[in-house]
Amino acid sequence: MLKIIAEHLPACLLFSALTAALVSPTPATAVTGDRVRTGAVGQAKASATADLIVSNARIFTGAYAGPNNRPFMAESMAIAGGKIIFIGKQQDAQFFKGPHTRLENCHGRLVLPGFHDCHVHLCESGLERRGCQLSGAKSKAEALAKLKVFLQKKRNAGLNKAKVGPGSSVAPEWILACGLPLPAVQNNPLTSTDIDSIEAERPVVIYSEDAHSLWLNTKAMQLAKIDASTKTPETGVIERDKDGKPTGALREQAMELLEGVLPVPPLAERTSALKQVVLLANSLGITSIQDAHTREEFLEAYRDLDDKKGLNIKVVAALHIGKNFGDMDFEHLTDLRKKYSRGNLQATSAKIFADGVVETHTAALLKPYLLPSPKAGDGKVDTGEGQCGTLNYEPQELQRIVKALDQRGFQIHIHAIGDRAVRTALDALAAARQIDRAGCDQHRHQIAHLELIARPDQSRFAELGVIANFQPYWAFNDPYMLELTAPVLGPDRMEVIYPISSIVQSGAHVAAGSDWSVSTLNPLRAMQVAITRQEPGRARAVPLLPGERVSLATILAAYTTGGAYANHSETHTGSLEVAKDADFIVLDRDIFKLAPTKLSQARVLKTYVDGRLVFDRSRASDRAVSE
Ligand SMILES: [Zn+2]
Repeated sequence: MLKIIAEHLPACLLFSALTAALVSPTPATAVTGDRVRTGAVGQAKASATADLIVSNARIFTGAYAGPNNRPFMAESMAIAGGKIIFIGKQQDAQFFKGPHTRLENCHGRLVLPGFHDCHVHLCESGLERRGCQLSGAKSKAEALAKLKVFLQKKRNAGLNKAKVGPGSSVAPEWILACGLPLPAVQNNPLTSTDIDSIEAERPVVIYSEDAHSLWLNTKAMQLAKIDASTKTPETGVIERDKDGKPTGALREQAMELLEGVLPVPPLAERTSALKQVVLLANSLGITSIQDAHTREEFLEAYRDLDDKKGLNIKVVAALHIGKNFGDMDFEHLTDLRKKYSRGNLQATSAKIFADGVVETHTAALLKPYLLPSPKAGDGKVDTGEGQCGTLNYEPQELQRIVKALDQRGFQIHIHAIGDRAVRTALDALAAARQIDRAGCDQHRHQIAHLELIARPDQSRFAELGVIANFQPYWAFNDPYMLELTAPVLGPDRMEVIYPISSIVQSGAHVAAGSDWSVSTLNPLRAMQVAITRQEPGRARAVPLLPGERVSLATILAAYTTGGAYANHSETHTGSLEVAKDADFIVLDRDIFKLAPTKLSQARVLKTYVDGRLVFDRSRASDRAVSE
């Protein structure tokens, strides 16, 4: 029997199969006496009875084997206590069958390890979904029309009956809208007066699709005490008219002026919104995430859902790092980690925004933008033509924060879009590593987004052990790229845009994520873009920098083993091996056999986390979840 395993399992898998079976039986496995199983575990006394046997499947374990490096496929998998206790041949799995073993017959379908989304705003996006959705709006008029319909529906539903006009003592409900595409307001900027024409009594806040800009109506500006006398934060933008009066648009750090003004929904509401989006993530095959910017109100919701046994996803939370972070703040961060890290939630990462985004000229570039930024009135925006955008932290300040976080044992997750932000982030991580090489390597710091990586910096990820965390869905020619990015960067910089293949070739660790709700949560759509550099559904479109296309194997690894590494969970997730968690998905078709342009047509039929079925497309209630 050992021979059979050896023939079909790659060395690493065989090793873990044997060590698990012979040396360290999983603690939760059921013991069924001293029945000696002569099956897949060789001479070991395989006393485990499976809770679940997955059979008649093509199970991609995560490994590649043979002369042509083909995906290694097993036929069957036995699971007990949430762990994989056997993976291999169909007939051998039957040795683990007991009277209460459930069977999952896959009818020849493909089974994959669950996906890791290593940069997603899951909880926050769950809450956003309660608001008006503006994504897809092509113009300001269309966005305002959507808002109008949303408000009308709310009124029809009998909500907001409290009198909120002048003299009312009732705190008005905030109207939240999100997903406004920047190209829709590029040439016709949105102002508070525009929003007032739809809703003037209640405060309204509208977030851009990339969440780096927002717009307020007059009521909201009054509540947030934003007027001509408001000082523009160091690294933010308050757009103003020619008299210096704010027009309603806030970008980057200026958005923090709403902090403490926007009400936080009650915990029950947060938890229920989170529960919905966890199911949504499961429906797309996601079983692990890194929540890329977590405040305490989100941690509370994750904790609450986990305590209720409903957090069907493994979460690493990257905690919010603000400006001027001092000793007290670091202490608070350490307290949060201690308070919230258990079960499926680990609050062990820290999120730093090194810069903004190219489209609003807030991304920090090494060389100037080629065109002025779109702005309202004569707005005193300091990021126009001839400017290089904004670093949110001076290099020395970033180094101070990075070193302090590393010394406290945090993984650091840095948002960096422009080539100057990427370089400054790498410099800061290099400086921290000079003091504490072992610590830095252990903490697995990462930089996310990576829109522009100057060529001299491309080898530094591998050299410094920094994980490159890409959002592959952004790498195609859409209006953001064609209208707001290419013209302001010029052809030279368009040669280093989202250089996923170059970074993979350099030997760096690569992880991937959606940045949802900024872009689609569906990993298969993002994988398709990584492979084609074209928008799904537009096979004839001109690919964006086709030299940076990657293979399915590469991008699948980023979403599985790469993600597990980035989340410090590779010992128990990321691939399907004995002794690992039974986090896996069943697909309706075999993505290894699909044309790259068809990849995103594949659907997840079932998702298992720790051997529990958490999403089943055959259930109407599960099917009802949608982005
Ligand atoms: Zn993000």
